[in-house]
Amino acid sequence: MQTIIKSVFVFIIFSILLFFAQELKANTIAKEIRYSLRWDGKSSSIKVKMVIPTLGLNELILTHQPNPFASYEDRISEFKVLGKAFLKEAKMVDQTKQFIIDNRNAEDEVEVSYVFDGANQNDAKTVGLREALTMHHSPNIKKDFLYLMGRHFGLYLTNRNTKSPLKVSIQWEEVPHSLINFNSVGNKSIEESMLEYSLFSFSKDLKVEKFSVKNIPHYFIGDTVNSNHEKIKKAIVSVTPEVMRFFDDYDFDSYFFHAIESKAIPAQDIRMYGRDGILSAEALPNGFVGTYIGSLDLKATLTPIHESIHRWINSLDNTNFGHLWFGEGFTEYVTLFTAFSSDFLTPEEFIHILNEQFSEYYGAYGDLTNEIRSNEYIKNNIRGNQNLMHLNYSKGFVFAFFLDNQIRLSSNGSETFRDLMVDYINFRKPILSGKVDVKNLTLESFKNLVSKYIKRKDIDEYIQRYILDGEYIDFKEAQLMKEFTLSIKDEKDRRTGNVNQVPKFNFTDRESLKKSYRF
Ligand SMILES: [Zn+2]
Repeated sequence: MQTIIKSVFVFIIFSILLFFAQELKANTIAKEIRYSLRWDGKSSSIKVKMVIPTLGLNELILTHQPNPFASYEDRISEFKVLGKAFLKEAKMVDQTKQFIIDNRNAEDEVEVSYVFDGANQNDAKTVGLREALTMHHSPNIKKDFLYLMGRHFGLYLTNRNTKSPLKVSIQWEEVPHSLINFNSVGNKSIEESMLEYSLFSFSKDLKVEKFSVKNIPHYFIGDTVNSNHEKIKKAIVSVTPEVMRFFDDYDFDSYFFHAIESKAIPAQDIRMYGRDGILSAEALPNGFVGTYIGSLDLKATLTPIHESIHRWINSLDNTNFGHLWFGEGFTEYVTLFTAFSSDFLTPEEFIHILNEQFSEYYGAYGDLTNEIRSNEYIKNNIRGNQNLMHLNYSKGFVFAFFLDNQIRLSSNGSETFRDLMVDYINFRKPILSGKVDVKNLTLESFKNLVSKYIKRKDIDEYIQRYILDGEYIDFKEAQLMKEFTLSIKDEKDRRTGNVNQVPKFNFTDRESLKKSYRF
């Protein structure tokens, strides 16, 4: 008898403990917004059901925040609140649409359903080059084809305490099974902040190719298989492992490259850019989305590599650091560096792309004054100015190349630009993970990192003259690695028609150039 009472007592105590343990667990698991999506494979719209967990709020404000790159279109219709709550109003606030739900019992889950129309206005008519090249910003849903991101259809709860982040899950409850699809989320729950970067793609002709880098899955997705598709695939499969080795960083769950072909304008129209083909893309934290037109040359084929390098050098550096020359130009140099060190490019191809960057900076922008090339002027006048935007790529590239040469010369070749970038990434990681304040990412902190490799007074001077003041680096005077020879050539710019003096490089010896870029 005694033992039975004892056992019952122990059982009760154990049950109480278990109950508290489960309660504790329930409170620490992040609450989740559950989306379920339906698409019949024929129409241009999807049906969205969104279940919002209990958040203890009497009123919910749901905001449809369209992609900042795309012009706003009102795509949500038939908005309904199911369950014990009702919709107070829908209104437009600063180009965003808000739905206000009066949740009469704050302890209830709220179910919201709406229809999202993803018809692509650019599809039917001939559009301008810029619209054609930015198709990846817009949703596109039509018969047997769907291209959609979480940022297009997702709604954000804007009146809650953001200190307790929400999770999001996205399920496709009805889809045409005859189509091939790519879903960047799968069955996982994601952080709410990643909703906007989730990607869904369905098509009859979709090609999804998977490759792994140290067990990290990478996906290349194209909506058409053509020569460009094959070129891009070759570049990303060859160079991506080298990029990750360059930064010595494998801290990623997965990554996707999604490149679609725009057939909205005839390929010959892109000649105004002086190229036979262009790939334009937006880098996301977990992948990139891009559009291409025409036939891609070797440099354009490397654009996906450039975008993937934004995993390490990105808009944070541009905005906080305050300098696009760094975010874009250094990315351009790492692209060329790794494309060459991985043997994707021959020494001749490496030199060709190097010289293209110099033609760009010393050629097309040779008519500008130092003031216009100065960092302050660029910062203040860049809005809507494509020329000033593009100037940063070659300006930063030329500076990175120059810096690489100076680092190699002062260490007798034992250290390179790559060592500096590994230091930079290690410095930046605690900032990205929120352990160190983002304010620490400054030009001053960058100069501190460089001063490990070259004299402090030298880097101060280089940044002042060639970046802040916009002065050209005089390569006739500059010291260069012995692997390069230099000549200064008069070159007619393809856009302005003006003749400018442009530094042109060649290599002294193929093998020693290759060796100098290996790491
Ligand atoms: Zn970029």
